[in-house]
Amino acid sequence: MRTYHSLLQIPIPTNLSLTQLLHTSTRPSLPPSHLIATDSLTHRSTTLGELRSRSGQIAHGLCSTFHSKDQSHWAVILPNSVDYIEIVHAILWLGGVVCPINHAIVASEIAHGFSVTRPEYCIVYGPVVPKVEEAIDLAEEDLRAQGVGWSRPTIITVVERVKGYLHIPDDFFPGDVLPIPEYEDTRERLATIHLSSGTTGKPKGVELTHYNFVANVKQLEAHDAKQFHRGSRIVAFTPFAHIGNTTFPLFFGPYMGILHHAMPQFDLERFGQLVDSVKPTIFQGVPSVVLSFANTDLAARYDFSKAEKIDCGGPPFKKEMLERLMVKAPWRINQVYGMTEGAGYVAYQRSGDAQPEDVVGPLLPNLEIVLRINDGREDAPVGGPGEMWIRGPNITRGYAFSPEANKSAFPVKGWYNTGDVCTISDKGVIAVVGRTKELIKYKGFQVSPSELEAYLNSHPYVMESGVGAVFDETQLTELPTAYVILKEHLTHEIVRKQALKEIQETVDNKVSGYKKLRGGVWEVKALPKNPTGKILPRRSANLQRRCEAKG
Ligand code: AMP
Repeated sequence: MRTYHSLLQIPIPTNLSLTQLLHTSTRPSLPPSHLIATDSLTHRSTTLGELRSRSGQIAHGLCSTFHSKDQSHWAVILPNSVDYIEIVHAILWLGGVVCPINHAIVASEIAHGFSVTRPEYCIVYGPVVPKVEEAIDLAEEDLRAQGVGWSRPTIITVVERVKGYLHIPDDFFPGDVLPIPEYEDTRERLATIHLSSGTTGKPKGVELTHYNFVANVKQLEAHDAKQFHRGSRIVAFTPFAHIGNTTFPLFFGPYMGILHHAMPQFDLERFGQLVDSVKPTIFQGVPSVVLSFANTDLAARYDFSKAEKIDCGGPPFKKEMLERLMVKAPWRINQVYGMTEGAGYVAYQRSGDAQPEDVVGPLLPNLEIVLRINDGREDAPVGGPGEMWIRGPNITRGYAFSPEANKSAFPVKGWYNTGDVCTISDKGVIAVVGRTKELIKYKGFQVSPSELEAYLNSHPYVMESGVGAVFDETQLTELPTAYVILKEHLTHEIVRKQALKEIQETVDNKVSGYKKLRGGVWEVKALPKNPTGKILPRRSANLQRRCEAKG
């Protein structure tokens, strides 16, 4: 295989845990009184010193109450908040594995999260306890049907107390700090199991070790520490449960002294108000949010005077959009490319890099990639695009409880197939030019086509369905779009139109907001398939054109 290496190689410790990293700062001048996080859920704040002592106290409280075994699984189902950061560090400190699940998704999706991570404990935002109880019932049923034994996890509430449940901090009164454990080797020591669809199917549990995250922090630091300084501030609005907002606020931020303001839910006006009070220097988001800077007068109405740059993950902006953005929000835009399976970041534009259209920037240090074509059988020609396989210290060792998924995700031992079609220049600069995997990304959130197809196929009007993505140029995001073959008995045209509407409503009511079929439900006569009968979703756009032509 023709391998391309990052231009920079750095030493990465194999015995440093994330708890030890929390007690290390890259800047000797960073005092414990340095403010690390604030939030608008509870209006709490924490300094570096407080985060260290409080997470050690919570770890001690949890440990002495539950005597949990090493590497037990702890689901964390909480909105972005200071409590979130403390609790994740507490779980890591006591040797647990954090399984982050977005608190805003529906019960059946949380249940799927439980089925793939199988937690023993759930730390839950008080108001979502009923939904989590429902999800536990569903997961129990699902795992029983699979013949898997799983005991109902213990629920512990946080932020809002719910009668009948233990509550953090009151029932684990902060007292002693748990001693910091030491590990000889952190390469196999799990830190989190994040959810990701990978290249195919419903979300799976991505196993990420302490070493993976420590590596990603060190890679980011070595790549371009100049972008961050003691006064760097970020309003963090994408969920901490998503990898795009895990590594920075939880690990890189405390290490570099970056202040994060945790925003529990995105709302443009509220965001503007927070800009006035927090005065962020860095904006991190997906193109659709950054676009709102160009399309609204937000930047004129609120105090963006401290803004230095925007980090943007997702397809790069075209030249015209950049020009429009530069008029209203004239800050540097750094493209970012990453993934759950890479513990966050894989390529990142540095402050000194040229910013050509359509590239995402150089690989982080210590990574190796190959670009493959022909279903992975051959190398892509030099300079040409190919499916990117990647190997390096931040890359996952695999999916939890999922030997089949591991076989297809790692076509060659140690190499993760990203399912992204990329090119690489002789300067190590990556461009993402397509995707072979099934994944749809709606405003940065993962949507699994097969999950939506399962709902569509169980609808009484649907014979067969395929879900693909249509790119919306005005919102700069992909939209989940369904193509269905209707059952024969729906003959009349009006009846068929009504059926499509009903199908869409039924599916949209069953899934979380970001999975809704915003691209519509379209009738087709046939679905394009590969020789093994698998639907080829990427051809769906052509199908839509055919549908539109049909009127
Ligand atoms: P996630 O695991 O949710 O972060 O999703 C990772 C996937 O998002 C990648 O494998 C890509 O398909 C896509 N992605 C992330 N960053 C970019 C980018 N800068 N350009 C294009 N696609 C991206």
